[in-house]
Amino acid sequence: MNVKELSTKAEITWCPGCTNYGILSAAKRAIVELVNNKKIDVKKVTIVTGIGCHAKIYDYLNVNGFYGIHGRVLPIAFGIKLANPELTVIGFGGDGDTYAEGVSHFVHACRYNADMVMIVHNNQVFSLTTGQMTPTSEVGYKGRSTPLGVKEKPLNPVALALINGATFVARGFALDVRHLTKLIEEAIEHKGFAFIDTLQPCLIYHDTSAYFKEHIYKLEETGHDTSNYEDALKRALEWDYCLNENVKIPIGVFYKVKKPTYGEQWPQLRKPFYMVKRKVNWEHVISEFR
Ligand code: SF4
Repeated sequence: MNVKELSTKAEITWCPGCTNYGILSAAKRAIVELVNNKKIDVKKVTIVTGIGCHAKIYDYLNVNGFYGIHGRVLPIAFGIKLANPELTVIGFGGDGDTYAEGVSHFVHACRYNADMVMIVHNNQVFSLTTGQMTPTSEVGYKGRSTPLGVKEKPLNPVALALINGATFVARGFALDVRHLTKLIEEAIEHKGFAFIDTLQPCLIYHDTSAYFKEHIYKLEETGHDTSNYEDALKRALEWDYCLNENVKIPIGVFYKVKKPTYGEQWPQLRKPFYMVKRKVNWEHVISEFR
């Protein structure tokens, strides 16, 4: 399989040069690599998106998918995985999507160790709706809803994921496609809740590209031990999502540990129970939506 086979005929309507292209490209490359190495079956890959600029990835990635609603990527994706544990389920959400309206789902997905991947396109702004603040906007950000600048300290999603029990916690950068590809591959292979907060500057409403290029460093180049929870938390707290000059921003895998997934702990979610064919009257179900 090659990357082209994962493209669709849909016209791409992201702004020219949008960093979402980096996430799309990394996701395609990671899926192709795993399919070619027979680690996953492309027919079993299912994506779920929320609402926002990120969500258009649903139209551009040629795999099964569910275009979700705002803030609800995680319950939909988790439900799909529980109904058919054989699927490789990948959620894509925005920062406004996941960390504002969807934050309770995020906390519980971490806590449950839901066996799925969650990639957040974090541009620290609501970009589709033209630049309102999100929970990860830095102090001082001036947008449509905050002309006097954000006053609240941003939420730190990496620390939040660690504290709530996620078993794979990483941060990527949309403009480092090769690095992000490896993170996505590792996340898909991980058994349990694999979360990647992906820094994805919005070129129109919050262009932090130059700032990130200057401040980012890679955890794997420092000998960071991904099995050490305390070290992971310490690294997570190195950056508070504000755009100060004297900080270094770690990217890479913060933490990775093997623990029972939600599905593994319930007998009814194991084979052969989920394979029982139910007699569903589809005509009746569909008629409710007519
Ligand atoms: Fe990308 Fe920002 Fe344009 Fe949305 S508004 S497509 S995030 S550059």
